[in-house]
Amino acid sequence: MIIPVRCYSCGKVVGNLYDQYRQLLDEDYTEAEALDALQLTRYCCRRMLLSHIELTDDLIPYSVAVVGTSPAYTAPAGGMQ
Ligand SMILES: [Zn+2]
Repeated sequence: MIIPVRCYSCGKVVGNLYDQYRQLLDEDYTEAEALDALQLTRYCCRRMLLSHIELTDDLIPYSVAVVGTSPAYTAPAGGMQ
């Protein structure tokens, strides 16, 4: 879906590195070289980028517009006691 902002284990901010990571992979870096270039040394942080699968573009065609699903609130007769 969307890359998590922080590493689940240590809390390091990794969400801002995903675009750079993809760009490095497009420039024929290996995954290990790209992660090293981004200075992600802990394996908990490396797995955040390695295991991420971008599904947003795949799921957009199946989205349904949410319009008017919540009925208007009406106060109960007699009010609160
Ligand atoms: Zn981490």
